[in-house]
Amino acid sequence: MSDTISSKGSLSPRRIGTPLSPSATRVMLLGAGELGKEVLIALQRLGVETIAVDRYADAPGMQVAHRAHVVSMTDADALRKIIERERPQLVVPEIEAIATELLLDLEREGFTEIIPTARAAMLTMDREGIRCLAAETLGLPTSPYAFASSLEELARAIDSGIGYPCLVKPTMSSSGKGQSLLRSAADTARAWDYAMQSGRVAKGRVIVEGFIDFEYEITLLTVRAIGAAGAVETYFCEPIGHVQINGDYVESWQPQEMSSAALKKARAIAGAVTGNLGGRGIFGVEMFVRGDEVWFSEVSPRPHDTGLVTLASQRLSEFELHARAILGLPVDTSSRAPGASAVIYGGLDARGVAYEGVAEALCVPNSDVRLFGKPESFKKRRMGVAVATGATTKEARARAKLAAGKIRPVEA
Ligand code: AMP
Repeated sequence: MSDTISSKGSLSPRRIGTPLSPSATRVMLLGAGELGKEVLIALQRLGVETIAVDRYADAPGMQVAHRAHVVSMTDADALRKIIERERPQLVVPEIEAIATELLLDLEREGFTEIIPTARAAMLTMDREGIRCLAAETLGLPTSPYAFASSLEELARAIDSGIGYPCLVKPTMSSSGKGQSLLRSAADTARAWDYAMQSGRVAKGRVIVEGFIDFEYEITLLTVRAIGAAGAVETYFCEPIGHVQINGDYVESWQPQEMSSAALKKARAIAGAVTGNLGGRGIFGVEMFVRGDEVWFSEVSPRPHDTGLVTLASQRLSEFELHARAILGLPVDTSSRAPGASAVIYGGLDARGVAYEGVAEALCVPNSDVRLFGKPESFKKRRMGVAVATGATTKEARARAKLAAGKIRPVEA
């Protein structure tokens, strides 16, 4: 493979060629949703040839990439065929549900570089892998937890230590899918059944976590990029606060105020976990905070949905930071202004919807809107986001919510 970043001695940036020519730097996104779309736009701006892959046609990222492929990314054979045909220098997972054993093989064969590493993609697609790494290998503070492969095992785990309230989640899931809050033993069977129906892969395994009575939760965007000395360094963005409803993010803001002791702990936790996962790129490290106490919750080895706020609040958005970091280019995590984001939901089930109220939304001072262009709307599907800045995060939040509320997806 030409122009790879050396792992021996000093690292240097990847040379960027001309798209659609033999010198092209080709990057393939596995997953082409709204986050992938923004990464692809950032790569396009740097003159990269881009390839978007997702399981449905006309996914947001496909609309801005040089080429697109529709394939199930859990189908290792089909995915390998596309990667071998396209020969990308970098493969960038944007979602969790990927045939990660294929990524491990491709990395081992030296055929392409997996961002940040195949091991990171594998460990973070399964709550069991990342929780064991964080709590047991790295000794980071987490909620008390146990794993169970049957209803009986789940009941035993709760009785013998986790207690109530607690949360049950499929090990193969994200964004609150299949997740239940249990208040007493009467809730256990329902939580087990719900998790079994909603897991990403029929694996029949859950994690049960003790409930953390946190004051607020944060995403600490952490970037591993090549620094001035030619070695990978770790950079932190300002912490992002967010509100989750049923495990799905509805609103985020940056910076989230925290005590200096809590910030120091959060950075140490994020540094430890991303350092272990390795590679280059941005990571969204999710943590719970109460006073000076910080608990690790999860990590995404890619841009994070709550980080959409950085489209307004930072000099370089999380997507631009990811693009630069994976290409071996320098990053700048500095803030521009207090900012906020608010999700625009579909509100209806229909294909090819139209959006009313966009002009009114853009009349809200210091605000901006992203409509993702998803071909099909569902009531609870994220179809867009409003972002805003303000003198304070309070003002930015009010503006982002006001702007998001003006936009109404309707039957075309
Ligand atoms: P997750 O899918 O694990 O990111 O969980 C989604 C959301 O559920 C989190 O952002 C929290 O708001 C909440 N949550 C998850 N685990 C816990 C926990 N152990 N204690 C309290 N709240 C939690």
